[in-house]
Amino acid sequence: MMRAVVVDIDETVLDNSPAQAYGAKNRLPFELKGWYQWGEMRKAKAIPGAVEFANYAKSKGVRIFYVSNRDEVQKAATIDNLKAAGFPDITEENVVLRQKESTKEPRRLAIAEKYRIVILMGDNLNDLSNVYERKSIAERFAEVDKAKELYGNKFIVLPNAMYGEWESAIYEYGRLTEAQKSEKRANALELP
Ligand SMILES: [Mg+2]
Repeated sequence: MMRAVVVDIDETVLDNSPAQAYGAKNRLPFELKGWYQWGEMRKAKAIPGAVEFANYAKSKGVRIFYVSNRDEVQKAATIDNLKAAGFPDITEENVVLRQKESTKEPRRLAIAEKYRIVILMGDNLNDLSNVYERKSIAERFAEVDKAKELYGNKFIVLPNAMYGEWESAIYEYGRLTEAQKSEKRANALELP
C-alpha cells in the first residue's frame, strides 16, 4: 500500500498570521467573511520548512493529502495559494476541505482505505485523531499522555498560540459572547 502523509493547512503548512494581525490591529473578532476575504487574496506564505518537508516526502514516493476545515467555496483560492507557495501534490483529490462536518475522521478513514498514513501533522489535536474532539482541557491532556509514543513519530504538532480547539475547550464548547469568552480566558490564565 502506498504511503501518505496527511497535513492540515492553516497554521500547519500555510501561515495566516497577517489575517490575525489585521484582526488584532483593528480589534475585530474572527468572522467568516473576513476569513474568506483573506483566503481569496491567496497571500498566505508557507510555514517555514513545510514546502521542504512535503517535497522530501514526495521524493520518497509518499503522497501528501491536505485535509482542512476550510470550506468548499474556498477550494480554488486554496489550491492557487498552495501552488504559489510551492507545495507538491496540489490536486482536486489531494486538497480535502470540509463538506458538512468539522470532524476530520471520515476524511482520514477515506484516505486510509487507499493509503497507509504514516504521518499526521497539524496545529490542532483534532488534526490527529477524533479522541480529542469536544473534550475538556483535562481530558485533552490525558488523551495526549495516553498517545505519547505517537507524538514526534506518527503525530507531528505545530504550536498555534493564536487560535485553535484549545480555545473552544476553555469556553467548554459553548456559544458565548465576547465578554464571556474574555472572562473564561482570564480565568484560564496561569499566573506566576
Ligand atoms: Mg490548522
